[in-house]
Amino acid sequence: MKRKLLALMIVPMLMLVCGFALTGCGGKNGTNGTNGTDGKSAYQIWLDNGNTGTENDFLNWLKGQNGTNGTNGTNGTNGTDLTAHTHTFGGWKVFIQPTEIQDGYEIRTCSLCGHLEIRVSATAGLTFNAISGGYEITGYTGTSANVIIPATYNGLPVTHIQTGAFQDNIIIKNVTIPNSVTDIGQSAFQDCTELKSVIIFANVASIRALTFSGCTNLESIVIPESVTTIGNWAFNDCTKLAAIFYGGTDWDLVSIGTNNAPLASVDKYCGDEWHFVNGVPTPK
Ligand SMILES: [Zn+2]
Repeated sequence: MKRKLLALMIVPMLMLVCGFALTGCGGKNGTNGTNGTDGKSAYQIWLDNGNTGTENDFLNWLKGQNGTNGTNGTNGTNGTDLTAHTHTFGGWKVFIQPTEIQDGYEIRTCSLCGHLEIRVSATAGLTFNAISGGYEITGYTGTSANVIIPATYNGLPVTHIQTGAFQDNIIIKNVTIPNSVTDIGQSAFQDCTELKSVIIFANVASIRALTFSGCTNLESIVIPESVTTIGNWAFNDCTKLAAIFYGGTDWDLVSIGTNNAPLASVDKYCGDEWHFVNGVPTPK
């Protein structure tokens, strides 16, 4: 009996051992499978879905739709209407200094549009002499009949016209004296027989003796309100003198010396009875 039981126990044990012992060693790997077919590109898939177009069309198709428009910006400020403005000029500035052969020029510009104006501010041929605080005019060697005396020379005011500075000059016809001049010397224009018109701006205190004596063609003169006295013989022989344009309102306040007969009968326009029209003194 014991032997039979033992046998019964051994048999399953052997079967177990043999079961393991019967398993073969690992077999060889199989051969590689064949490659699958290539996948499709996204573009091809897109085409397969019924779309048509190039790759670029496809790429564009991928992009999102356009966004909505942004809101409008705020309005800009109004520009300046340059077609309808009154020029706003700064003061005249010396542009070219006068010499004995070169007229002097001044320029001014509009601060709004840059419009530039230029004017002759001094006539070539004037001769200058430095004096205390500025310059005096000593003479005229120019050929122009129109003489403009500058208000400044070398950056300093022209304050005086020397005694006899233009005496016997038979070329000059029109003379303009700026308000920088405070004194016109005696006989300054004596016997300037072609002289027709003179404009003296403010600040001269007197017209000295003989200043215009013998100016037989002198027709008109602007005399500023600053003038309080007219010297003897100042307008002697000014037989064509027709008009005095006086800056003050009462000509009778001016003290008039002897031998100035033309002043008695000449037409006198005072204060606002006259004005400049294109630079020419004109009765209103
Ligand atoms: Zn302008």
